[in-house]
Amino acid sequence: MTGCSWCRSGVLLGFLRLPGVWTNAVGAELRVVDEVPLCADCVWHWGDQPRRPDAVALAGELEAWRRGEL
Ligand SMILES: [Zn+2]
Repeated sequence: MTGCSWCRSGVLLGFLRLPGVWTNAVGAELRVVDEVPLCADCVWHWGDQPRRPDAVALAGELEAWRRGEL
């Protein structure tokens, strides 16, 4: 198993596999699976941060939802 690509600690718990869709240059949609490393050090630091929404981003997403774009 390789080390963490974010903090370089080398303490990986595993990988989170996230399915998604990627559009290539000619517009064809391809199903992909992104692998996100789960790192003990990075998870620890995320847990220290209080969870607060970004008010500007939230207002923008709310407006997009009202326009029917989401
Ligand atoms: Zn890390």
